[in-house]
Amino acid sequence: MLDCAIIGGGPAGLTAGLYATRGGLKEVTLFEMGMPGGQITQSSEIENYPGFFDHEKTGLDFMQTWQEQCFHFGLKHEMKKVENVAKTGKHFTVTLEDGSSVEAKTVIVCTGSTPKRAGFKGEDEFFGKGVSTCATCDGFFYKEKPVTILGGGDTALEEALYLSSICSDVYVVHRRDTFRAAPPTIERVEKKENIHFVMNSVIDEVVGDAMGVTGVNIKNNDGTMTHMDNTGLFVFVGHDVRNDVLKDEKGTFICKMNDWGQVIVDLSMKTSVEGLFAAGDIRIEAPKQVVSAAGDGSIAALQVISYIQEQA
Ligand code: FAD
Ligand code: NAP
Repeated sequence: MLDCAIIGGGPAGLTAGLYATRGGLKEVTLFEMGMPGGQITQSSEIENYPGFFDHEKTGLDFMQTWQEQCFHFGLKHEMKKVENVAKTGKHFTVTLEDGSSVEAKTVIVCTGSTPKRAGFKGEDEFFGKGVSTCATCDGFFYKEKPVTILGGGDTALEEALYLSSICSDVYVVHRRDTFRAAPPTIERVEKKENIHFVMNSVIDEVVGDAMGVTGVNIKNNDGTMTHMDNTGLFVFVGHDVRNDVLKDEKGTFICKMNDWGQVIVDLSMKTSVEGLFAAGDIRIEAPKQVVSAAGDGSIAALQVISYIQEQA
């Protein structure tokens, strides 16, 4: 019987593992289907994690020492995909993709969420080289420069507001003539003089060179094309929340979720199910930053330790 099963080995899961093992729990296993590190390993750099300021190092380099530190304190890693988590009496059953299962007193779910790609030409090629899905992470690189945003939902317009304080101009490209975002957000965006709307249009192609993005080709719904010189393109066309592990065999979630499939937690990262915690990008109102995912992981692990002590 594990003291704690941690699902997902990004910043939230690794930090949870560090705090759980250093806090005295002996049987803690991290189930991570790939190499631990999470989404940030796809990034060419990270400059907003306090204490780490090295432009030569990639997200992969940055996460390398996290693993070493966690495993040093006794965290075990199983490189396996988790199929689902079920509460069986007082404990949990964690079922793995090979059909085997593990019992655990507590579970911390840290499976994250993935920003969707829009599918235009050059998106994958220039991802991380001018194409971004994170304004908080990359907006500063375009200080006082124009940028383009694709999308018309709440995320696109809220991030347009954020970028409007950093960038000279923000061009919001949206495929319809009305926004999906909430009316108060639309009103706030409309009041910003440096946010411009390019409606009934999509990005056809992002173009660039070895240095990164140099511009975007916009296809308007009437078939005409427009080119804009621009070095930053932010894509906000929705998120896939990786919450499948929390579904039972009927596809019903085992704990309370919000309408967007994010796990509802309180400030202790407790879900609606006793002994089940969620941390990082999968939870409601996640800032989707490494530093906050790590903070969540530490909170969840400290709560796990208290929970196990109370149950003993
Ligand atoms: P994730 O990092 O998403 O980790 C989840 C892990 O769970 C993954 O490793 C995945 O393989 C695993 N997993 C999922 N499902 C299962 C399953 N069923 N079984 C087993 N394992 C599973 N943030 C910043 O603070 N600064 C930045 O500069 C920055 N830049 C970014 C650049 C890019 C290109 C990207 C993609 C993200 C960036 N972020 C940045 C955001 C940051 O990476 C995330 O907010 C953070 O990684 C979230 O951590 P997490 O632990 O919640 O989830
Ligand atoms: P979203 O609501 O799904 O919006 C995605 C946007 O991208 C839509 O405008 C969509 O256009 C557009 N889009 C999708 N695929 C595209 C493609 N391939 N090419 C071009 N455009 C494309 O996603 P989100 O904004 O990330 O929000 C997700 C959920 O979280 C929503 O329910 C949202 O309300 C919620 N949220 C809430 C808040 C808040 O309350 N403060 C903040 C952020 C997010 P169409 O409109 O034409 O479909």
